[in-house]
Amino acid sequence: MTTKGTETNKKEDLLIKDRKYMWHHMSKHNENPMIFVSGKDSWIEDVDGENYIDGMSGLWCVNVGHGRKEIAEVAASQMGTLAYSPMSQSHIPGIELADKINEWLEGEYRIFYSNSGSDANEVAFKIARQYFAQNGQSTRYKFISRYRGYHGNSIGAMAATGQAIRKSLYGPAPDGFKHVPPPYCYRCPFGKEPSSCQLECVSTIRDTIEWEGAETVAGIILEPTITGGGLIIPPKEYVTKVRELCDEYGILMIVDEVICGFGRSGEKFGHQNFQVKPDIVTMAKGLTSAYAPLSITAVRADLYNSFKDNSGQNHFRHVNTFGGNPVSCAVALKNIEILENENLVERARELGRQIERKLQRLEHYKVVGDIRVFGFAAGIELVEDKRSKKPLSDEKMMKVLSVCKENHVILGKNGDTVPGHNNIITISPPFVLTDEELEKVVASLECGLMAIESE
Ligand code: PMP
Repeated sequence: MTTKGTETNKKEDLLIKDRKYMWHHMSKHNENPMIFVSGKDSWIEDVDGENYIDGMSGLWCVNVGHGRKEIAEVAASQMGTLAYSPMSQSHIPGIELADKINEWLEGEYRIFYSNSGSDANEVAFKIARQYFAQNGQSTRYKFISRYRGYHGNSIGAMAATGQAIRKSLYGPAPDGFKHVPPPYCYRCPFGKEPSSCQLECVSTIRDTIEWEGAETVAGIILEPTITGGGLIIPPKEYVTKVRELCDEYGILMIVDEVICGFGRSGEKFGHQNFQVKPDIVTMAKGLTSAYAPLSITAVRADLYNSFKDNSGQNHFRHVNTFGGNPVSCAVALKNIEILENENLVERARELGRQIERKLQRLEHYKVVGDIRVFGFAAGIELVEDKRSKKPLSDEKMMKVLSVCKENHVILGKNGDTVPGHNNIITISPPFVLTDEELEKVVASLECGLMAIESE
């Protein structure tokens, strides 16, 4: 039998087992998943030996690119030295990483380790509630977030998520999670144009605080830019104004940096684009470039002080077994060293500028409604026609993505917050993407657009 024949059999064997035993995330029952076997830089290779540009860095996470042997070596070495010890005590990679994160945050924060972005947000909610409870404000338990924002899949993080489609089967959500309309300029929820905008998206937060009763609100959680909900970039003053509202009403500002952090925004953290200091910052994904699971809830040091009494009354009663695993912490440290040594945050910023320029050439396609770029993440909102802004059908969206795939580029599709609104192509490649590869990404999307316009 030829090698090719053997490979085909191997793939068929794998698919038989996959169909029998695997339960894939999010997708409909997936009879024909791509099976990936390796990755190098911005490319991933499947079991057929086909190579694709990973235009989404997996799930917006492999920021330093695939196949970094230096990270693998650090992981192996840490595993051989100390593979595990719980976070009720301490270990060297955990301490060093907490120090490094403080440097990156340009502030003084206490670092609480968990495993995933969802975990990090759950921890933020629990810390915020306990903080107020032990500071004589136990009426403060509510959190405000935005419709279309995504904050995770566990019950609390899902409650904060503003995407009906991901929640409808899993209710009722816990009490205390309130939503406000997003700062979605292309489809302004307040019917405004940029020329008539008076930041109603901020006033609505103030109204919600007032109507709920400020004394009941513990926190506002937001991404600097909504990413998974369709790359919704707020007006320039929005994040600063949210900070001001938090100060005015004594509410904690929780910034979800799970995607925006570690360079994706063109700065170390997304909020640094707006010169604000959050009270709590959550991070995951790019923290390790997804080479190992790890997340962080970074809490303003002075908030931590109220948890620090010797009586034991005020301890934060939360533990998770794997959070702060030394291997994951060592991986995160190496990942950050790579980001620093290879100037990858600056490179992400530069790639963002380049993609913004290149995407302009797609503006004339009648299905291109809006093009949004934040750092090195792009959202291209596709519509049936520019005037009606009717979201492009799912079928056509799939066609665009499959043409990209035929061109060996994997892109994403987002915005699936309510049925029929799954119409935003998302691009978020590794920061090691070359200029030529960037051109290939945009060219593949252009082929996809041509394909549906010629139908
Ligand atoms: N917050 C944001 C902004 C996210 O994009 C995600 C994941 N896509 C999460 C939280 C949850 O992270 P995880 O999947 O690691 O639980």
